[in-house]
Amino acid sequence: MNVMVRSSAGLKAPEKFFIDGEWVRPLSSRTLDVISPVTEERVLSYPEASPADIDQAVAAARVAFDKGPWPQFSPTERARHLRKVADHLADRLEDIAQAWTLQVGAPISLTRYLVGQNPTLFRYYADLIETYPFIDERQRDDGGRVRVVKEPVGVCAAITPWNAPLVLLSYKVAAGLAAGCTMVAKPSPETPLEAYILAECIEKAGLPKGVFNLVPAGRESGDHLVRHRHVDKVAFTGSTAAGKHIAAVCAERLARVSLELGGKSAAILLDDADFGAALPSLMIYTMPITGQVCFSLTRVLVPERRRQEFLDLYLGAVKGIRVGDPFDPQTQMGPLTMARQLERVQGYIAAGRAEGATIACGGGRPAGFTKGYYVEPTVFTDVEPDMRIAQEEIFGPVVSVIGYRDEDDAMRKANNSSYGLSGAVFTADAERGYAVARRMRTGSVTINGMVVDPKHPFGGFKQSGIGREGGPEGLDNYIETKTIHFA
Ligand code: NAD
Repeated sequence: MNVMVRSSAGLKAPEKFFIDGEWVRPLSSRTLDVISPVTEERVLSYPEASPADIDQAVAAARVAFDKGPWPQFSPTERARHLRKVADHLADRLEDIAQAWTLQVGAPISLTRYLVGQNPTLFRYYADLIETYPFIDERQRDDGGRVRVVKEPVGVCAAITPWNAPLVLLSYKVAAGLAAGCTMVAKPSPETPLEAYILAECIEKAGLPKGVFNLVPAGRESGDHLVRHRHVDKVAFTGSTAAGKHIAAVCAERLARVSLELGGKSAAILLDDADFGAALPSLMIYTMPITGQVCFSLTRVLVPERRRQEFLDLYLGAVKGIRVGDPFDPQTQMGPLTMARQLERVQGYIAAGRAEGATIACGGGRPAGFTKGYYVEPTVFTDVEPDMRIAQEEIFGPVVSVIGYRDEDDAMRKANNSSYGLSGAVFTADAERGYAVARRMRTGSVTINGMVVDPKHPFGGFKQSGIGREGGPEGLDNYIETKTIHFA
């Protein structure tokens, strides 16, 4: 098994699943398609895991957890294996970037830049567990000894979306394996290829059988996985709607669950901000991957009195974005990933118009594109905070520029959201920015830029999720605490 993705002509479609350390034939004849967002044509078909295949994967993960040796390995031994996985991933970075661009339409310059996060995550968690306090000696008031031990939560399902397929899987698999859990990965049906590359790297790294299992599938089999009584924990990244459903299913049997969900993040430009200095960050992070990133800064809050100054600068830059073939290294924005995404984004653009917002640029199909799920980078002004385009996650290159009177008004508008994932504050005074960041009801905020670093926690307040990924907090997701008293 070797997924080569350098060109779609030479692409080898996956034919099997990775279960119990083996490449296993599917139990059903169900298939899924990968569609090119550029040509709208099928790139390949591959098998979809049925509930029976999922049962096999869960059974393998269950045995690997209950009988070991993975959970019983010392942290140093697990770290050694994780570093091998990282080394193999590092050898496959170009394949991972090509697969990401092929399936998602993300520009190759961006995917090449970002893929290094995958080995970084495996190395980070390898290093962390070598110093993590898995056993903490304490004393009771009566003088007796207590050992508080951190144990792996068990068999974990990792369910991931299509926009950043491997990074979002690596967050879960690296942390879960580091903790001593065993994993069943169900990537998004539209983007299976990178998960296959990860499975190949794990196979080469020689992890024990059943520790990592790969079963790509759609919602129905995904639901079967979430309901499975042998799955102790579900780690989910995806839409808030699916996240609520999964949380409800897990609540029924009190399975552990962590959720990384949608966002509607705000960039607040304070009245003392240097707009020119803020522009490069805004150009990358208001519409990354054609706006299909959970932490996109899709609401830009500007002081009323400097609104025109900002629009002159920002609209000029947005109109200059090079939209094109994502495999062209010069392209800054590719197409949306799939037909339903194009329909969704066009629907929101129509809704914004209908609600009375003004399209300051974009709004249609870019000139010269007869095929592909392309949409122009679009900026709305005259946006009222309660309009749908200001409240709902569009997941496309559509930004609302919203004016504010003073800092309190900015805070009210920024926090007027059911989401709370991310945000940014731009200011000449970093401590003033920190004070504003503390008032934002979001899981992360960057002052004068936008940073998402796998070595630090990331996740949402409110309907953007429960739990954190990345950093030591990301390891805690996969840990149960056991208290052992010496009476
Ligand atoms: P989605 O919720 O439709 O699907 C995500 C994954 O869950 C897919 O693998 C899908 O097959 C599976 N799934 C869907 N319903 C399921 C169910 N009932 N049971 C089990 N599995 C199920 O989301 P999407 O369209 O693939 O991704 C886009 C969404 O992901 C956006 O809302 C975006 O904000 C969010 N996202 C969040 C983060 C984050 O870290 N917070 C990161 C990336 C994307």
